[in-house]
Amino acid sequence: MPLLQDLQAQLNELDEQHLLRQRRTVDQVRGAHYKTDGQNLLGFCSNDYLGLATHPAVVQALQEGAAKYGAGSGASHLISGHSRAHAALEEQLAAWMSPCIDQARALYFCTGYMANLAVITALSGKDAAVFSEELNHASIIDAVRLSRAETSIFRHGDLTQLEQQLQACTRHKKLVVTDSVFSMDGNIADIPALLRLCEQYDAWLVVDDAHGFGVLGEHGRGVLEHFSLRSPNLIYMGTLGKAAGVGGAFVAAHETVIEWLIQKARPYIYTTAAAPALAHALQTSIALISGDEGQQRRQHLRQLIRMFSNGLNLRDWTLLSSQTAIQPVVIGENAAMLQAADTLRKQGYWVGAIRPPTVPVGTARLRVTLTAAHQIADVHMLVQAMNRMNQMAYIAQCFAEVA
Ligand code: PMP
Repeated sequence: MPLLQDLQAQLNELDEQHLLRQRRTVDQVRGAHYKTDGQNLLGFCSNDYLGLATHPAVVQALQEGAAKYGAGSGASHLISGHSRAHAALEEQLAAWMSPCIDQARALYFCTGYMANLAVITALSGKDAAVFSEELNHASIIDAVRLSRAETSIFRHGDLTQLEQQLQACTRHKKLVVTDSVFSMDGNIADIPALLRLCEQYDAWLVVDDAHGFGVLGEHGRGVLEHFSLRSPNLIYMGTLGKAAGVGGAFVAAHETVIEWLIQKARPYIYTTAAAPALAHALQTSIALISGDEGQQRRQHLRQLIRMFSNGLNLRDWTLLSSQTAIQPVVIGENAAMLQAADTLRKQGYWVGAIRPPTVPVGTARLRVTLTAAHQIADVHMLVQAMNRMNQMAYIAQCFAEVA
């Protein structure tokens, strides 16, 4: 069949360019330790930043939730899928985020991807203008396409360009969208400056805090707490499958915005509600994040981040400047990066191998993510393994140039 042959030819091409992705199957996880495809690996690739995904209290709450509500919700939120567990989680999140948002209300979504689709499509439309950061997550890029709004992409961190775009805009409805922590680079956006511009030009600022929620800020409220921000222009999206260790996402904003999303956001309305057991377990996660244990875990994580970035000593490869748990080492070519990831895997370390189109061509990278489930000794060993591997690669390169 010609259509199948077409697909196969394209897959073969991807393979030749070292762009064919492979999934490893995880058989068991405990903290940062994985059993996968018959191998025991120490993982440095998950977004379970606080190590809550296998926390006994969270796992127990998930079981209790399933016993009480069943395995699934059975319907969408506006039919009969909205449980007491969903409602209680939303109230807990709204109360907790209230220092950062006026008249805060929260809405729970099945995934962060859907939350971004929901917010951006429901608050824009053909008569709106959307301004999106160049390095925003794929879910934002897709949401902007779906919105049918007039779209401007501003260069990474270029607020001067954003201001010019805002100045030139004649539309009344304006939405600026940004990741808080850039997922493939690890750096933090200048949210205070973005917010000032949004206030000045009467635009919403949608902040995707997937990698900041639970991790940044003294109490884990994320990037808004990190920068001590509060504004009626803010619409906050936090994911709950990363630091919270479970799944789904929430939007926190002024109660009017949330009511609008409930009424209008198609990715909220036309999908089966997430299992109530997840919402039940998340209440325990949020209590842990906001309590003493969360503070201790964040402190430990910060120590590991410092250790890792101070310990690496690389030639030709570049550790990107990042204060967060995302520590990317840019190697460049796909094949060289895959070889490095493979070498580490043979030594028992599982590190994210990131290639185009997720990152620009020529910037393939090892994306190391640190979590509170790691011990100091784990990070020390990884640093040594990476330094050793880099030295070998450098020596091999020198020999290749001489020959
Ligand atoms: N935004 C960002 C910045 C992300 O990194 C991700 C997930 N990788 C998402 C949104 C989507 O979140 P979810 O995995 O909950 O769909």
